Amino acid sequence: MRSNILGRLQDGERLGDIANTLGVTYGTVHAIAIESGIRYSGKHLTAAEKAEVNRQRIIDGRSIRQIAAAMGLPKSKIGRCVQSQFSRVVDTGGTHVSPRNLRRPKRCPEHGLVRLWPCVACEGEKRRKLFLLQRGRKA
Ligand SMILES: [Zn+2]
Repeated sequence: MRSNILGRLQDGERLGDIANTLGVTYGTVHAIAIESGIRYSGKHLTAAEKAEVNRQRIIDGRSIRQIAAAMGLPKSKIGRCVQSQFSRVVDTGGTHVSPRNLRRPKRCPEHGLVRLWPCVACEGEKRRKLFLLQRGRKA
């Protein structure tokens, strides 16, 4: 029974489905899954895995799809992890930022990874140049 359950877990069958098929309780299947330490369907990410997701996302600027492929995990799992991180973002500067703009860090050719897009520093520089140009014409 135990090896049957382990085999099914390794094939990616869901805990509830295995319990139903074999006529055992969900708790039994769950206990064996945890005790074996294998990566079963529906298992939560460990703290180390979450840290790795954040590292790839924020420092490397990778997409959810790329991280999922690199770590051999489903996209939805990575997506939920990233989502939970972003819902914790608190803006202390009082700027209103649409969550849409915070989703994924983008790489500005001049300023590196930025969370706000378009890059605030580049936009500021553009406006400054425009301002100087306009003043130059009038003077
Ligand atoms: Zn920039």
